[in-house]
Amino acid sequence: MTIDFTFPPEVEGVRMRVRAFMEGEVKPAETPDLWDEGNRRKLVETILALRQKAKDAGLWMPHMPRAWGGMELGPTAVAAVSSEASRTRLGSFVLNCQAPDEGNMHTLLHFGTPEQQEKYLKPLCLGITRSCFAMTEPEVAGSDPTLIQTSAVRDGEDWVVNGHKWFITGAHGAAFAILIARTNADSDIPQERNTAFIVDTNLPGWTIVRDIETMAGGHNHCEIRIENLRLAKSSVLGRIGGGHELGQARLGPARLAHCMRWIGQIEYALELMIDRAQKRFSHGSMLSEKQGIQWLIADSGMELYAAKLMVLHAAYKIENNLPFKTEVSYCKHHVANTLWRVIDRAVQVHGALGYSNDSPLAKMLTQARWARFADGADEIHQMRIAQMLMQAYSKHGSTRSATGDLPL
Ligand SMILES: Cc1cc2nc3c(=O)[nH]c(=O)nc-3n(C[C@H](O)[C@H](O)[C@H](O)COP(=O)(O)OP(=O)(O)OC[C@H]3O[C@@H](n4cnc5c(N)ncnc54)[C@H](O)[C@@H]3O)c2cc1C
Repeated sequence: MTIDFTFPPEVEGVRMRVRAFMEGEVKPAETPDLWDEGNRRKLVETILALRQKAKDAGLWMPHMPRAWGGMELGPTAVAAVSSEASRTRLGSFVLNCQAPDEGNMHTLLHFGTPEQQEKYLKPLCLGITRSCFAMTEPEVAGSDPTLIQTSAVRDGEDWVVNGHKWFITGAHGAAFAILIARTNADSDIPQERNTAFIVDTNLPGWTIVRDIETMAGGHNHCEIRIENLRLAKSSVLGRIGGGHELGQARLGPARLAHCMRWIGQIEYALELMIDRAQKRFSHGSMLSEKQGIQWLIADSGMELYAAKLMVLHAAYKIENNLPFKTEVSYCKHHVANTLWRVIDRAVQVHGALGYSNDSPLAKMLTQARWARFADGADEIHQMRIAQMLMQAYSKHGSTRSATGDLPL
């Protein structure tokens, strides 16, 4: 068996081109005031200008097939490209592979009818529309989608939807939403109760109540009221009762895509940590010479290294049509927690500067906090991992198949 951790030359070439594009074009455009309130127009114009440059450079939608205008990279190559792009804040938006559109593109590609793909996927791929994914509700635990209360009831040929959603990322300005609603309340199998719908957000009955103010400010995570929203039967995405499997199919690779982006952020935070430690003098030596600081650096390096291996291995499993759910759970938990810990250590090494907005770390830290519960809370992934480990042990007398099924 060959274990080769080098990318083929064409993938390495793309990775280096993305790195150069991020360094040369995106980073210089990311002035600190870009995210200030009142600067929204400047932010949008900056993204649009960079998107044109990305398209011209052939760096557009690494995850999508060429037939849809993408680069048709496999999951391991996407891992490489996404982590390069995420060394900047705008990178994934510029390449049109940002959440939640990236996950929605995959969903429409695999579950959409040709008509739905033409109407919704095409403009998304061209970068002229945005979308959102509406599943979580304030009244019930988002960790358990079988509890969803938003209901869709048949009325003649149509469906009438009533419900309440929140934390719907990108809802302001989204042309459409992929909405998960309960259609089969009586189904014996809880996972068969929900159906996915495509909703044009300009329809009467779809109302954005507010952009929820979070610890990181307002970032277009919206609360939505749905009142007597009437949908044609052609709005059903996938099969009736297939909402859960569609959500799971979407979330597996989408979770890994988050991990890929977080790796770029972790690496950037570690480099900031080292840079600061090598430049700051205290008690007779540079911070980088203190053992206490070296431990922070070393722990971060070890965790980042493990994160990279886990992400590459999970991507390899997806690429080779092997079971990947447990591996993605390992990744999601490990990478989200590494993100939090490494940025926090970098803040520590920067002292007051790290706590201020003169450094990017403060904003990175508040953003990092949601990684530990969005798209599956830590404890849910731990629950799944423990279940898989126990199942493997009961079946084979060994946990090996549930620890990546590696040959050691
Ligand atoms: C920034 C951000 C963006 C988001 N974007 C979207 C979006 O675009 N669309 C969307 O639909 N949702 C979105 N969400 C919602 C997100 O998916 C949910 O927050 C997540 O699924 C958890 O659901 P919840 O918040 O209801 O927490 P709950 O399910 O109430 O869980 C709260 C806590 O309880 C614990 N817990 C829950 N179940 C168990 C268990 N079985 N065992 C042990 N502990 C448990 C965990 O510690 C968990 O963190 C977003 C959230 C954030 C913060």
